[in-house]
Amino acid sequence: MKKNLSHHAYLVQIHDMIDLSPSLRRLVVYSPDLAQYPFQFNGAHIKIFLACPSQRQPQLPQFSNHGFHWTDPVNKPIVRTYTLRDYDAQTCTISIDFVKHGYSGPASVFAQKAQFGDLLGISSPGGPTPMLKPAARYLFVADITALPAVQALLADIHSAAEGDVILLLPQADDLPATLPLPARMRLHPFYGHLSQIPLLVNSVASLSPLGKNDFAWVAGEASLVLPIRAILREQWQLPPQRHYAVPYWRQGENEESYHATRHQYIDT
Ligand SMILES: Cc1cc2nc3c(=O)[nH]c(=O)nc-3n(C[C@H](O)[C@H](O)[C@H](O)COP(=O)(O)OP(=O)(O)OC[C@H]3O[C@@H](n4cnc5c(N)ncnc54)[C@H](O)[C@@H]3O)c2cc1C
Repeated sequence: MKKNLSHHAYLVQIHDMIDLSPSLRRLVVYSPDLAQYPFQFNGAHIKIFLACPSQRQPQLPQFSNHGFHWTDPVNKPIVRTYTLRDYDAQTCTISIDFVKHGYSGPASVFAQKAQFGDLLGISSPGGPTPMLKPAARYLFVADITALPAVQALLADIHSAAEGDVILLLPQADDLPATLPLPARMRLHPFYGHLSQIPLLVNSVASLSPLGKNDFAWVAGEASLVLPIRAILREQWQLPPQRHYAVPYWRQGENEESYHATRHQYIDT
């Protein structure tokens, strides 16, 4: 899959905060510059840049062919990866859905405390383009950090698609009232925390294998993604170009400590 390098950053302000469910909070961000945002599709990866504690406004990165760097490295912001949930060129807004996972992570804290007018940076979209390959049958497996991407990607899928959507959500109220599910795709929600992962893995293993014209999209905590990628690759012999399997986070590690391991895993 072709990868885009994030190549521009925008200073945006909080325009709205919407509590979508007990665990998810949407921040709608605004800048007039977003009228020219290089949007490709909802569900793309984006970086967010959060001001360090002494600052109100985050420093934005400089971009080069090797990624981004900082003019003032001492005061570099906190960088996190999120999902472009929705882009609206008319209103110059972007929506990002944050998991409220407590007060140990700066991004979760930022989402929970966000006030109108607060400033943050966001990058132009990145990640594989396209993220989904055309397919007759799809398999989606996601925890709640990847629910925003699943919702965005399902909204763009063709209506005759078949397949399965397997979700791990903290509680039943985290399941959106409406999911843009094509008629022939089945939803399998599981509720609870990481202890439920073996049940999800078993439910994937019990499906009929995907073939080389199908596509699997898997994201969430590392101990969910790793065994499912093993099923896809080793048991089902699904070629790498027919699946996306990205560990979005790892329990006990923050983004700084997990970032390099994630990229090594994706690159294999
Ligand atoms: C491509 C991509 C897209 C993503 N899209 C989204 C998205 O749209 N929405 C979203 O909420 N997240 C998304 N994530 C996951 C998000 O980047 C991580 O959860 C990130 O660690 C959150 O940063 P933080 O500052 O809150 O916590 P960190 O400072 O990174 O971590 C602090 C502590 O919290 C734990 N932790 C981190 N995330 C969670 C969690 N979800 N539940 C419980 N404990 C956690 C860590 O293990 C660590 O112990 C995405 C990740 C990737 C790679």
